Amino acid sequence: MNLETSEPMTNRELAKHAVEVLNRAFKSDPVAIEQLFNVRVDCNDALANDPTIQVGQVVGADNYSVGAIGIINGICGTMRESSWGYVALVYSVECPEHGKQDGSIAETCPVDGCTIDLQMGGLEGFQVLDER
Ligand SMILES: [Zn+2]
Repeated sequence: MNLETSEPMTNRELAKHAVEVLNRAFKSDPVAIEQLFNVRVDCNDALANDPTIQVGQVVGADNYSVGAIGIINGICGTMRESSWGYVALVYSVECPEHGKQDGSIAETCPVDGCTIDLQMGGLEGFQVLDER
């Protein structure tokens, strides 16, 4: 239901509302929210096979793990085509030597003469993904 008009909300509208609330929480206490969303716990096959909840699996491992973002995506529903969730965590990309950079993880730092691979930095907030 749309919280203001009582009209049914699409999955994407629900995700947009969730992202607004999550970004408000992150703005209020970024340290607490980053700690909360960095936690993953082991989960069983029944939860891993839920139709909408998103779980992770380490490559080569036979067990699954779930975090708060997977549950939130389970509430908001998945995209028709990909079965991905709509709500995504946004992390910065950083060079350990030169700080935050534009670029992708595992690309080389763009600073002249630097040969260090960029790494995932801190949580910067939440965003709604487009259908893919
Ligand atoms: Zn660098």
